[in-house]
Amino acid sequence: MSRVFNFSPGPATLPEAVLRQAAEEMLDWQGSGMSVMEMSHRGKEFMGIHAEAVALVRELMGVPDHYKVLFVQGGAIGENAIVPMNLMGRSGRADYVNTGEWSTRSIAEAAKYGRVQVAASGEASGFTAIPPRASWQLDPGAAYVHICSNETIGGVQYHQLPDVGDVPLVADMSSDIMSRPIDVSRYGLIYAGAQKNMGPSGVTVVIVREDLLGHALAITPSAFNYQLQAENDSMYNTPPTYAIYILGLVLKHTRAHGGLAAMEAHNRAKAQLLYDFLDQSRYFSNRVAREDRSLMNVPFHLKDAALDAEFLKGAQARGMVQLKGHRLVGGMRASLYNALPLEAVQALVAYMQEFEAAHA
Ligand code: PMP
Repeated sequence: MSRVFNFSPGPATLPEAVLRQAAEEMLDWQGSGMSVMEMSHRGKEFMGIHAEAVALVRELMGVPDHYKVLFVQGGAIGENAIVPMNLMGRSGRADYVNTGEWSTRSIAEAAKYGRVQVAASGEASGFTAIPPRASWQLDPGAAYVHICSNETIGGVQYHQLPDVGDVPLVADMSSDIMSRPIDVSRYGLIYAGAQKNMGPSGVTVVIVREDLLGHALAITPSAFNYQLQAENDSMYNTPPTYAIYILGLVLKHTRAHGGLAAMEAHNRAKAQLLYDFLDQSRYFSNRVAREDRSLMNVPFHLKDAALDAEFLKGAQARGMVQLKGHRLVGGMRASLYNALPLEAVQALVAYMQEFEAAHA
C-alpha cells in the first residue's frame, strides 16, 4: 500500500491511524457484532459514540456550557440558508463581510431570508486581503454579523477576531475549525462541514449560544430548526452516524497529539515553510496580503501559467496530488489541514525548487 501526500481542499487527508482503526472496527465495532453503519442511532452503542464526539468538540474547543453543539446535515452551503432561517427573525436584517467566494455565496443565500447588508468587502483587492475592521459599516440592529474565518479558495484568513460589539458574530469556520485554539465565547454561532480538519463529509458541526435559539422563521424546515435539534440532542432526524463516528476518532487523535495548540504550532510550521519559499522564489508567488495569509490553504502561481499542467504532472509522479488551484483563482493551491504531515510540505518545496531550477 502506498499513500500519497494529499493537498486536497476537502474532503481532505485524514490521519492514517484513524483510517486503520476504522478499518479494524468495520465489521465488528468493539464486540457489538456490527458495523457502526448498521447501528440504530438510538441504540446504546451509537448514543455512546455520539455523546463522546460531542464531548470531544466541547473539550478541544473549550465550548462554554451555555452553548449547544449540534451535529446536523446539509453542509456549510446548507447552513448558508439555515443560519438566516434561524437567526434573522430577531430583527429581519443581518450584516455580512465579504472576503471571497464562500462569503459571496453566503450573502446571496441569506438575502432570500431577510435584509442583508454587506458591511465590508475585499472585492476591490480581488479578495487578496481582509477589509480592515475600521472600514466596516456595522448596523447595531443587525440580528448577527457573518464572517468566513478562512476563505478556502482565496486563501485569506482572519488572524485577529474583529470586535463587533453586542451583535452576535456568526462564522463559517469550515476550513479552519480545530486548526488553532479560539475563544468560542466571542461567537454567537460557529458552523463547519467536517471534511477538512474533523472527518469525512456528511456531518456539519454547529456551535450555537443558547439565547439565540427560538427565533426561527415560520418557514424553517423542522429538521433545520436549531432549537428542535438542540432539544433532541441532534436526533430530531437520523444523524449521519458513520461520519459522526469518524469525526470522533479524528478528534480523539487530535487530543492525543496535543489538542488545538499543538495543531496550531504544526500548521504554522507547515505554512511558514511554504510561504518562506514562495517569498524568496522568483518563479512562484502568492498574492495574498501577508497579514491575512491562510495557514490552511495556500494558493500560488507559476510565473508561466502555460507550465501549470506540467507542474501538476510532475507533482503527481512524486506522489503529491490535488494541487490544482480553484478555477476562480487559477494556478495551484496547497491545502495544509491538520492531518497533512510536515513531510508533505517539505516534499512540495523540494519539488518546487527543482522545478524552478529547471524553468526559471
Ligand atoms: N464554506 C467554506 C469556507 C468552504 O470551504 C466550503 C467547502 N469547500 C463550503 C463553505 C461549502 O461546504 P459544503 O459543500 O460542505 O456545503
